[in-house]
Amino acid sequence: MDSIENELVPNEELSDELLSGLNTQFEMAGPDEVLLWGYDTFGAGMVLGTGFGPSGMFLIYRLWELGIEVPIFYLDTHLLFDETYALRDRVEKRFNIQITRVSTDLSLEEQADEYGEKLWKTDPNKCCQLRKVLPLRNYLSDKEAWVTGVRRSQSETRKNTQYVEWDPENEVVKLNPLANYTAEQVWNYIHSKNLPYNPLHDEGYPSIGCIPCTEAVGQTVSDERSGRWNGNEKTECGIHLSTQQK
Ligand code: SF4
Repeated sequence: MDSIENELVPNEELSDELLSGLNTQFEMAGPDEVLLWGYDTFGAGMVLGTGFGPSGMFLIYRLWELGIEVPIFYLDTHLLFDETYALRDRVEKRFNIQITRVSTDLSLEEQADEYGEKLWKTDPNKCCQLRKVLPLRNYLSDKEAWVTGVRRSQSETRKNTQYVEWDPENEVVKLNPLANYTAEQVWNYIHSKNLPYNPLHDEGYPSIGCIPCTEAVGQTVSDERSGRWNGNEKTECGIHLSTQQK
C-alpha cells in the first residue's frame, strides 16, 4: 500500500478526500495494515481502547504479535463485572503488559449524592457521560489517535463504520481495524489462537459492559449488542458518537 503519512497533520481534522482515499485502501487490506499505518503515522500518540470484548482481545494480540507497543486502556466505571477485571489481569500477564485504567474521580457514592441513587436507571445517558464519555475525553486530550474494536456488524448504528475516521468529540483520529469483520470471524480467530476471553460470553452475554446495564440473553441471538440497556431505548454509551453519526 502506498504511504501517504506525510499528508496527515495530527490533531487536525482530516479532509474528506484523504479519509476516503485511506478507507478505500484499507477496505482491500486487513487489520494489520491499519495498525501498522496508525503506528507509522502517530507512534506512541496512538492508543488502543478496549472493554475486554472479543474484538479487543483480537487487537491486543495483533499489536503484541506485530511488536507494536502503544498504550492500551480501558474505562473503569467502578461497575464492571468481576470476570472483566479477572480478564484484564489474565491479559496483562499473558502479554506482559500494563493496561491503563481510565476512570472518573466521581465515586459512586458522590454520584448518588449529587444525582440520585441508581442514575443508570433514572438517566443512563447522564451516567454514561459522567463515567465513560468525560473520562475518555480527558484521557484522549493529549493523544493523536485511538484504536477501537468497533465493527459494522455489531449493530445498525455501527453499519457505516470506517477504518479511519475523525472523532470530533475527542479531536483525535479514530481507527477501527476490524470494521468489516463479523463476530464469527473474530471468534474463530480467538479460538484458533487460544486467546483469553470473558467467560460470561459462554453464559449468554453477547456484549459485556457495566453490571446494572448488562443482561444475559442467551447464545442464539443474532444482535451482538443485545442485552445492553435492556428495556431502554439506549443502545450506545456515547463514546462512539462519531461512528454512529455517519
Ligand atoms: Fe452507567 Fe450503565 Fe452507562 Fe455504566 S453503562 S456508565 S452503569 S448508564
